[in-house]
Amino acid sequence: MPALNPYLASMPAGYLFREVAKRIDDYQRNHPEDKVISLGIGDVTRPLSAAVTRAMASAALEMGTKEGFRGYGPEGGYPFLIKAIYKNLYEPRGVTLSSDEIFVSDGAKSDTAALQQLLSSEARIAVTDPVYPVYIDSNAMTGRAGEYRNGLWSQVEYLPCTAENGFVPPLPQHYVDAIYLCFPNNPTGVALTLPELQRYVDWAVQNGVLIFYDAAYSAFITSSTVPHTIYECRGAKSCAIECGSFSKLAGFTGVRCGYCVVPRELYGGTLHRMWSRMQSAHRNGVSYPVQRAAEAVFTPQGMRDCRENIDYYMNNARVIRNALRGAGLEVFGGVDAPYVWLKTPGGISGWQFLDFLLEHAQVAGTPGEGFGPSGAGYFRLTAFGTAEHTQEAVTRICRAL
Ligand SMILES: *Cc1c(COP(=O)(O)O)cnc(C)c1O
Repeated sequence: MPALNPYLASMPAGYLFREVAKRIDDYQRNHPEDKVISLGIGDVTRPLSAAVTRAMASAALEMGTKEGFRGYGPEGGYPFLIKAIYKNLYEPRGVTLSSDEIFVSDGAKSDTAALQQLLSSEARIAVTDPVYPVYIDSNAMTGRAGEYRNGLWSQVEYLPCTAENGFVPPLPQHYVDAIYLCFPNNPTGVALTLPELQRYVDWAVQNGVLIFYDAAYSAFITSSTVPHTIYECRGAKSCAIECGSFSKLAGFTGVRCGYCVVPRELYGGTLHRMWSRMQSAHRNGVSYPVQRAAEAVFTPQGMRDCRENIDYYMNNARVIRNALRGAGLEVFGGVDAPYVWLKTPGGISGWQFLDFLLEHAQVAGTPGEGFGPSGAGYFRLTAFGTAEHTQEAVTRICRAL
């Protein structure tokens, strides 16, 4: 046996979605006549904009011509896409970035998982709780998260986000080197206002802490007080790296494109130099047709279609929120993100609530326990289904309650 990575070898199995799928299957097997509707879908369902598919197809055909063929592209992305990202997502918000501070990638999952490579093995991290599992897992696989006991990693500081604090994470109580923030948040669906995020940025600047900011859901923001990028905060360029994605913005979950912003202001250019060095060692960029497809998201038709799809999902979110609130549940999120986070009735666990919903409403969702200890007693519903299924599901839930 070769000497294997012991941290990776002893990782606890990803349990959440497998267990949810198993409970749905079990129910369906015993009740073949019932049709279970899942509001647990964490993936978009609306088709791509025709502007995007046209650009992708035409770039693919271009590659089949002598003049249009391209081999390896620039590791950090083609200038046309970097410029489009800057012009559409940063410049309008008053953020200045140079083109070499934006790195195109195959998505925010790979980027957020790679961020930990910037840290030493002794570095301490903090995460909000509940949390998108990638942040912790990527650290745990290198040993930085310590040991896993009773659902907690021993070296990670968890910042509880609950109804009691309005899902705004408290500042860490112990020494940390880096903190992962994702707003609007998956799974809680809650966003931070500019002053709330500014407080974090000020604290990070004062304490020399690095913020890893996941802005995957920024296109879903509807509140005027919520920043679309952390760089709307004063001083953020000296403490924060931001990841973004076309996945939820433009339905690219199966196409794969994202970007990471690493400002030169971070520690005198050190992190920019490290990230560039790692990119060139590990990656060869994203395919040309995909980058052309991403560029087309920002054409007038692309923008219109993406807006329409996001509005469609956010209408589902509104339907879920209003109906469940009307039925007396405590409901959060769903205003600036396609997720609705609810408190289970009668203080039962999220898992018990899943069983209740399957049994009495034939509806599934995701138990909060799966996202971390502070998710206990909460439940996530997503707005990514069809309008018809969403309406039917909430009607059934309200009847069952
Ligand atoms: C969906 C999602 C992403 C996007 O990941 P991609 O790899 O770009 O598809 C990133 N962060 C969070 C929290 C998400 O839920």
